[in-house]
Amino acid sequence: MNRQHAADDDDLVFLAETPDGQKPDGTAAARAVWRVLIVDDDTDVHTATLFALGSLEMQGRPLEFLHAYSASEARKILAAETDLAVILLDVVMEREDSGLQLVRHIREELGLCDVRIILRTGQPGYAPEMDAIRDFDINDYKTKSELTRIKLYTSVATAIRSYEQICAINASRRRLDRIARAGSELMLAHGLENFAYGIINHASAIFEMPNNGLICMQAHGEDQDGELFVIAASGRYGTAADAALDSRQHERLHHLLQRALREQRNMFDADGLALYLGSHAGRHFAATLDAGKPLDDIDRSLMEVFCRNISVGLENVLLVTRLENFAFHDPLTRLPNRTRLKELVDKALGSHARSDSTLALVDIDHFSETNDALGHQFGDLLLLGVAARLEKHLGGQLIVGRIGGDTFAVLGDASLVNPTTLLDLFCRSFRIDGQEVQLSATLGLLRLDDYEGSGADALKDAEIALKRAKLLQRAGHVYFTRSMGVDIRERVRMMHALRTAIDEQEMFVVYQPQIDLATRRPVGAEALLRWKTRDGNFIPPDRFIPIAEYSGLIIRIGERVLREACRELIRLQELGFRDFSMSVNVSQVQFRHPHFLDMLKAVLAETGAPASRIELEITESIAMEDPDLLIDLLRQIKQTGVSIAIDDFGTGFSSLSYLQRLQADRLKIDRLFVTEITNASRGSSIAEMVIQLGRNLGMSVVAEGVEDERQAAILSALGCPLAQGYLFAKPMPFDQLVGWLGNGGNGGN
Ligand code: C2E
Ligand code: CA
Ligand code: CA
Repeated sequence: MNRQHAADDDDLVFLAETPDGQKPDGTAAARAVWRVLIVDDDTDVHTATLFALGSLEMQGRPLEFLHAYSASEARKILAAETDLAVILLDVVMEREDSGLQLVRHIREELGLCDVRIILRTGQPGYAPEMDAIRDFDINDYKTKSELTRIKLYTSVATAIRSYEQICAINASRRRLDRIARAGSELMLAHGLENFAYGIINHASAIFEMPNNGLICMQAHGEDQDGELFVIAASGRYGTAADAALDSRQHERLHHLLQRALREQRNMFDADGLALYLGSHAGRHFAATLDAGKPLDDIDRSLMEVFCRNISVGLENVLLVTRLENFAFHDPLTRLPNRTRLKELVDKALGSHARSDSTLALVDIDHFSETNDALGHQFGDLLLLGVAARLEKHLGGQLIVGRIGGDTFAVLGDASLVNPTTLLDLFCRSFRIDGQEVQLSATLGLLRLDDYEGSGADALKDAEIALKRAKLLQRAGHVYFTRSMGVDIRERVRMMHALRTAIDEQEMFVVYQPQIDLATRRPVGAEALLRWKTRDGNFIPPDRFIPIAEYSGLIIRIGERVLREACRELIRLQELGFRDFSMSVNVSQVQFRHPHFLDMLKAVLAETGAPASRIELEITESIAMEDPDLLIDLLRQIKQTGVSIAIDDFGTGFSSLSYLQRLQADRLKIDRLFVTEITNASRGSSIAEMVIQLGRNLGMSVVAEGVEDERQAAILSALGCPLAQGYLFAKPMPFDQLVGWLGNGGNGGN
C-alpha cells in the first residue's frame, strides 16, 4: 500500500468541501492545491518553472511549489511531505544517475506510488532506459529544450489528472477492502441487535460520516405503511432505539425509510440517506445515516456494494438466530427444550449453588388419554396451560422447560423444587378452552448436590426416577438414588461382547448411497457400522456405539471403519466409479484422541485412498466442545485434503462465527427435520433454513432420512443439492452397493 495513504490520513480528504464536479483526492485537497516538487540543481530551472506555471490553476486548484536543489535535499523533503502530486525531476545532479536513483528511492524505498514523476534532462544523451521509465512508472520524459511553457503545462496537467485518478481509484479500493472486512467482522456479531449496531459503526467509519444512524425493520405482507421497529440507533437517533419509530417526531425520515422499503432500493435524498438492507424472514430492513456531506457517484456505488454485503450477512444472522431458537426451544410452549436443559443442568452442576439445587421432571398424568379423547388441539392447550402455570409460579426464580410430550422440567433451589410445592400447583383446576380440567402430575427428582454425571446423565437419571414414580403411583414422586443407575452390569456385559465381536469379525460396514437430487445419480455413500452377533441378532449402532465410546473401544473400531471405507473406495475407483466419495462417521471420543490425525494420515497413506474423496462426519455436539482446539484439528485434517461434514445439523447449535471458523464443507440435515418438512409451511422449516444457510456460507448440504417422494420434491424445490435415505437406497453391504451402482442406482435394495 502506498505510504501516502498507509495511515488513515486520507480520511481527511473526504471531509473537505470540494467544488462541484471535483473528485476528492490527496490531502492537498484539504487545502485545495496541487503540490509540485521541483528537483533541479539549476536555480534557473526553478525560476523558469515558476514563471511558466506559477500563476496557473489546474482543475480549479492552484499549484503549490516545493524546491529541492539536489537529490539529497529532495530526499529530506520527501521524508517530511506526504501529499505531493507531481515531481519535476532533473536526471543529472550530484551524479549522472542522481535523478534515477531518486526515482528508485521514491518508488521502492518510500513506496510512494501515486505521485507522478516527470523527468527532465539538459542533455539528450542522459536519457533513461525505456525499462526504467516503465519499471518506475515515470509519467513523462522531456529534454529541457523541448519544454516550452505550453508543453510543460500540458505535461504537468496530464500528470495531475492521472494523479487525481490514481488517488480516487485507491480510495475506492481501500473502501472496498473495508467493506469486505466489515462483512466478515459483522459475522462475529451475535444476534440481530449487535449486528445492527455493527452496521451503523462500520458504515459511518467506512464512509466517514458522523455516527448518527438507525436500523429498522418492518413486517411484510401487511400494509406497506406498517410500523417501523427500530433495532439499533446511535448518536442523535439514540433515543429511538428499541421502539416503533415515531412517525410524527421523525416525519421526513419515516417517509424516506418507507420509500426505501417500498421501492426496495437506496434513497439518496436531500433530506438524508435511506439504505435498503433486504428482506429476510418475513421482514424488510432499512437503515438511515447522516451523510454530513454531499455524496458523489463513487460513494453511492460503494454504498450499494455495502448494502448488498450487509444484506447477506443480515440474512445469515437471522437464520442462525432462528435456528438457535428452534434448536433450544420447544416450539409449542417456547420453553427451553431438552437440548437447552442439558446445558442448563451442566451449568448448574458447575456452579456453587449446586448443593441446594434439584432437578424435577413433572409428568402430566393420563395426558395421552386426554389427548386421544379430546384431540390434539385440546392437548396443546392443556400443555400451554401447564406451561403458563409453572412459569407464573416458578419462572422468576427457577428454570422451567419442556423435555418431551407431556414432561416438563423444573430446575433450581430445593426450597421450591420439591414435591410439596410442585404438586400443590396442580391442586387448582386448569381452565382450558372454557372448561375446567383437573390435572395431576407425577414427579421424578434428582438432587444435584452429590451427583456425579453430566447434564445429559442427570436428565436420563431423573427420567429413571420418574419411571419408578409412575410405576409406584400416579401423582406421587421418587427421588433418584444411585442404586437406580443404568445397570452397570449390563454395560459391562455389552463391553465384553463388543470386544469379542471385534476380534471375531462380527462387525462389518454397510454403505448407504447419497444422491444428487437433481439427477438422481449417486455421488457417494456413508459408511455405517453393523454388528451381527453370533446368534444372528443385529444390535443397532445407537446401542453399541455409546458403549464403544464409553469403553474406548471406538478408537479401534473407528479406525477399522475408516480403513475399510478407504479400501472399498479404491475398489470402486478400480471398477470405474471414479467420482464416488465416502463419508465416515467419527465420534467425539475418536476425535479427542491425541493420535487421531496421525491415524487418519496413516490410513490414507496405507490404502492409497484419495483424501479429496473422503469426508468425515462429525456431530454438532463435538463441534461445540473446546472450540479452539477443534478448529485447529479440523484445519489440520483439511490440510490432508479430507473434507468435513456436520452431521445432524440443527439439533444443537453454535454461533455463526463459530460455524464459519470450523470451515466445514457440508451440512447434513438431520432426519428429524426432513420428516417434518411435509407439514411445515414454506419459509418455516428448519430444513429450509439449513439449506439457505449452506448456500449463503458456500457449504454443500445433504438431507438425510429421505423416505418418500414428497420429501424429495420439497427438498429439491428448496434447492437442496444432495440427499440420502430409504427412498433411494438402504445401507447395504459392499458387493450389493457395487451391483446397485452398476445398475445406475436402481434396485439392489
Ligand atoms: P447417523 O450418522 O445419523 O446415520 C444415519 C442413520 O439413519 C443410519 O442409522 C441410517 O441407517 C439411518 N437412515 C438412513 N436413511 C434412513 C431413512 O430413510 N429412514 C430412516 N428411518 N433411517 C434412515 P444407523 O446405521 O442405525 O446408525 C445410527 C447412528 O449410529 C448413526 O447416525 C451414527 O451416529 C452412528 N454410527 C453408525 N456407524 C458408525 C461408525 O462407523 N462410527 C461412528 N462413530 N458412529 C456410527
Ligand atoms: Ca452420519
Ligand atoms: Ca445424521
